[in-house]
Amino acid sequence: AQLDTLDIVVLAVILLGTAAYFTKGTLWGITKDPYASSLSNANGSAKAGKTRNIVEKMEESGKNCVIFYGSQTGTAEDYASRLAKEGKSRFGLETMVADLEEYDYDNLDQFPEDKVAVFVLATYGEGEPTDNAVDFYEFITSDDPSFSNSNEPPLGNLTYVAFGLGNNTYEHYNSMVRNVDKALEKFGAHRVGEAGEGDDGAGTMEEDFLAWKDPMWAALAEKMGLEEREAVYEPIFGIVERENLTKDSPEVYLGEPNKMHLEGSARGPFNAHNPYIAPIVESKELFNVKDRNCLHLEVDISASNLSYQTGDHIAIWPTNPGQEVDEMLNILDLKDKKDAVISVKALEPTAKVPFPTPTTYDAIIRYHLEICAPVSRQFLGTLAAFAPDEEAKAEMVKLGSDKDYFQDKISKNHYNISRTLSVVSGGKKWNSIPFSAFIEGLTKLQPRYYSISSSSLVQPKKISVTAVVESQLIPGRSDAFKGVATNYLFALKQKQNGDPNPEAFGLTYELMGPRNKYDGIHVPVHVRHSNFKLPSDPSKPIILVGPGTGVAPMRGFVQERAKQAESGENVGKTILFFGCRKRSEDFLYESEWEEYKKVLGDKFELVTAFSREGAKKVYVQHRLKERAKEINELLQQKAYIYVCGDAANMAREVNTVLGQIIAEERGVPESKGEEIVKNMRAANQYQEDVW
Ligand code: FAD
Repeated sequence: AQLDTLDIVVLAVILLGTAAYFTKGTLWGITKDPYASSLSNANGSAKAGKTRNIVEKMEESGKNCVIFYGSQTGTAEDYASRLAKEGKSRFGLETMVADLEEYDYDNLDQFPEDKVAVFVLATYGEGEPTDNAVDFYEFITSDDPSFSNSNEPPLGNLTYVAFGLGNNTYEHYNSMVRNVDKALEKFGAHRVGEAGEGDDGAGTMEEDFLAWKDPMWAALAEKMGLEEREAVYEPIFGIVERENLTKDSPEVYLGEPNKMHLEGSARGPFNAHNPYIAPIVESKELFNVKDRNCLHLEVDISASNLSYQTGDHIAIWPTNPGQEVDEMLNILDLKDKKDAVISVKALEPTAKVPFPTPTTYDAIIRYHLEICAPVSRQFLGTLAAFAPDEEAKAEMVKLGSDKDYFQDKISKNHYNISRTLSVVSGGKKWNSIPFSAFIEGLTKLQPRYYSISSSSLVQPKKISVTAVVESQLIPGRSDAFKGVATNYLFALKQKQNGDPNPEAFGLTYELMGPRNKYDGIHVPVHVRHSNFKLPSDPSKPIILVGPGTGVAPMRGFVQERAKQAESGENVGKTILFFGCRKRSEDFLYESEWEEYKKVLGDKFELVTAFSREGAKKVYVQHRLKERAKEINELLQQKAYIYVCGDAANMAREVNTVLGQIIAEERGVPESKGEEIVKNMRAANQYQEDVW
């Protein structure tokens, strides 16, 4: 590992600052500008030589515990960081967090016996690994992974711990952790504690994690002979004030995601690390009702090298609303310092600063942290030590340790972190929390995914988005809870439609972006390819089930079939089941379906289910059942069936109903019907895009 002189100076100063904090309790981690001359990019940790060898990496950085994560939306990564911090502060473990994508696995057989590997693995979509865990998963679950030695059993020396993040509404619940656990055991590795499983479907992820980790730590402490000590907050990041810089200095990041963006030379590949700042060229409201909104947006990718295929997802990178940014700055007593320039430095070589610096408090809070998200109960426990008075401290300890109390006071009200702090202290400022605690304790602001609602055959350079604006009335709370990305998009739509003061229900956004780089109407995006795809042969019949915004990719599919028909191709039967509350309120794309019908004729049929029109609620699965005979015949002609939208109820019921239809129509037992559906899934004849 090589440290350049500057890094050493910076680290030394940060360490001094940290010491100052622990001795005096106030001067926390903030040091005066140690930079003699400014750097164009002082971001990142000390530049340890980049190795893909985890055994070597741990050896050289003196670690005895690595926490690998497979994460798609940031939660697994977050849990990994939390385990790393807890292992260090409670048990003195030398922990590091590792992105599965950044290491090789063939030498896991050389993993030292006295160290431990933790796997925090999210399952994505249809039982798939997250993007960053694909290679690891393929390696470890293959019949004969090519380990570097020929030990027998190959992983006999490996001690591991496992936790999975899943959603029980999906068919392959927590299959990542289950399959990896099985594979590791098969190769002789020794698991400590239970392989934990968190369930997002039941909404208990955080509590499942908390309930799993305590017995796990106890078992691990026993196995490794660790002594528990009183946990004190130990920062992973140091904050350095950069007094010679202002927010107008060209090297200061004001929300730009990376250096290319800062320097105005952003270019592809555009991906989860590098968004394209795309113009929104059209936007409109799709609902016809006062209190609910659904947006249709057209994002132009023609000036980029981005491409998409029908059925893919677009990721929208949101910005936090100004009001929430202000509340956060206010409760932390950072209002006057919001534009102060700071560098964030990793205090140890294996930690990564999650955004580029030097930057400002305002930019970090606005562009990089999930400040509106649900609060972690464990995090409140950590913050208790920094409470402004004894009463607030006691309340934080109670919230951190009493699950039901926390549920009643915080979760039920959908409070975010600043609201929680404010409620706990009665508005008193929390001015002694090290800012690093938020960088470590809050998830990075995540892009939100949307099923593209256009066909790439029809409009290859313009991506359609269909997004329902997230707004929930919470009993006992005066203001409605508002989703981050969709309200941001709503404000963009207002601007695009000429509103001089665009906002979303009182929420305002920095719509011009950092340094006005989103001027005009621009939004940062990238594209994620999916497996939700039409059959390559257009003459195959298809059954589409897409109620609500689940109709998004179905619109793309029908658009594509209409275009194919227009070009003289033989297009198979296309039957779309759509459901919503009322024809007059939320019937998405009502007039467009008629246009497609004109082109496709008998080949296209739209079946609607309006749940709030008659005395009885009618949903798409009821309509499927009414059409049992026809559905079964289509399936026997090898029709493909696609389901998109609500994972928790709709997709599950459609699955059940389909099994019943097959059983009844073919005169086989229900269990056989279910098995046939399962096989259809395995053969990709049944595809889901659910969330
Ligand atoms: P967020 O702020 O992310 O909030 C989302 C939910 O999280 C809230 O409803 C609430 O339940 C919970 N939550 C957030 N903060 C708190 C808090 N403080 N306390 C308690 N609970 C909280 N949506 C569409 O409309 N159309 C699509 O085509 C579409 N396609 C998708 C495709 C995929 C593959 C995936 C994964 C999702 C898709 N979604 C789609 C959903 C979309 O990605 C977003 O989740 C949705 O738009 C909400 O985003 P948001 O930022 O507005 O809300």
